[in-house]
Amino acid sequence: MLYNPASHKAEEFINHEEVLASLDYAEKNKHNVELIDQIIAKAKLLKGLSHREAAVLLDCDIPEKNQEIFALAEQIKKDFYGNRIVLFAPLYLSNYCVNGCVYCPYHLKNKHIVRKKLTQDEIRKEVIALQDMGHKRLAIESGEHPVENPIEYILESIKTIYSVKHKNGSIRRVNVNIAATTVENYRKLKDAGIGTYILFQETYHKESYEQLHPTGPKHDYCYHTEAMDRAMEGGIDDVGLGVLFGLERYRYEFSALLMHAEHLEAAFGVGPHTISVPRIRAADDIDPASFKNGIDDDQFAKIVACIRIAVPYTGMIVSTRESQKTRERVLHLGISQISGGSKTSVGGYADDVPDAEESAQFDVNDRRTLDDVTRWLMQMGYIPSFCTACYRAGRTGDRFMSLCKAGKIQDCCHPNALMTLKEYLMDYATPETRAIGEALIEKELANVKSDKVREITRQHLAEIANGQRDFRF
Ligand code: SF4
Repeated sequence: MLYNPASHKAEEFINHEEVLASLDYAEKNKHNVELIDQIIAKAKLLKGLSHREAAVLLDCDIPEKNQEIFALAEQIKKDFYGNRIVLFAPLYLSNYCVNGCVYCPYHLKNKHIVRKKLTQDEIRKEVIALQDMGHKRLAIESGEHPVENPIEYILESIKTIYSVKHKNGSIRRVNVNIAATTVENYRKLKDAGIGTYILFQETYHKESYEQLHPTGPKHDYCYHTEAMDRAMEGGIDDVGLGVLFGLERYRYEFSALLMHAEHLEAAFGVGPHTISVPRIRAADDIDPASFKNGIDDDQFAKIVACIRIAVPYTGMIVSTRESQKTRERVLHLGISQISGGSKTSVGGYADDVPDAEESAQFDVNDRRTLDDVTRWLMQMGYIPSFCTACYRAGRTGDRFMSLCKAGKIQDCCHPNALMTLKEYLMDYATPETRAIGEALIEKELANVKSDKVREITRQHLAEIANGQRDFRF
């Protein structure tokens, strides 16, 4: 097999020999100051790096150069995303699963975990609980089970989620994290109005992948790896990549993940909308110590920084798998979206959904409420954003990317972030959080460059304060 980023065959766009050659190149050049300087200079142009170039930065262990790499990641984050952090929550629909993934408690052979699938009525309760927290953006999660969770169930659930209007609440964007499926099903998801289709590769290393997924449809490496191609073919132009760090050697995953991003660019003209960086966590039936490739916090931070530099226009997500401390560290280095107040069990948000606690996928590390997370972000100078305007205005896929690459996303995102934060403060925040938020909004208004935009934003903020909630964020 030859390396071909534009091919639709997994083994050509994630070509094993090319990954190994990149790792070898990075190893040989990790002390090559001249080359590292050239790569950093190229990265400063904000057009991204190839997987090989990024691999050299990842391997670099010269302290002064690493400082430059971290500083550059922070600068790129500011240039593309400003100080906004988008908030979301996962919503687990069902933990029935026919696969045998050895790192996930939902695997078929786990007979002691409680199996649960939400009814539409339970979904309504969950959505009301999420709206009462202040969430506007969800990521739905489900195991793969053709009988319990067929595509019809997922579609009906999406419809239910969008239909719930409780007090001033509404879910404005539903991202979907379900198993690899057919072009026809992706088209159905697109028609149902989903935001991003997210599918973690888990590992790009084919041999490991097959061992880690010994049974079930997910065993098929190529079908899984080519899922984003089918999603794009089905009309979904915002796709989210990710690997589960800890399953394979992180250097391999890092290069392959960037090759996947290059493939989407080469084949469809649009890179991934987001990249997630989960690390393996403890769960029922799962001991993370049994996986030999775990990464420490320093390696994790370096990965985040190097991804930020390599694909500056791609959002990066860190979940509540990570502690407050770790999240705080990587927010500076490139993370643009985080979850808050998350429950990883089926039915975990509403008070009265039975058996919810025993159905969790993994242990949450950051257990703070959304209000705590929002206040914490603001105390660090970030603007928590609940905005979904791009999606609602059809700025997805290449339309979003071209705005983002031109550095223009910020111009509309900054005022929108302030206005959605205002909605949150008015409707859901505790008095302490509201006070901090109001002061932040005033300070941030001063940063709006255009007088006209500042005035319009001010006017809309006043309307929101007076109870208007019909903006299309
Ligand atoms: S990772 Fe997904 S497919 Fe695998 S067992 Fe867990 S829920 Fe099922």
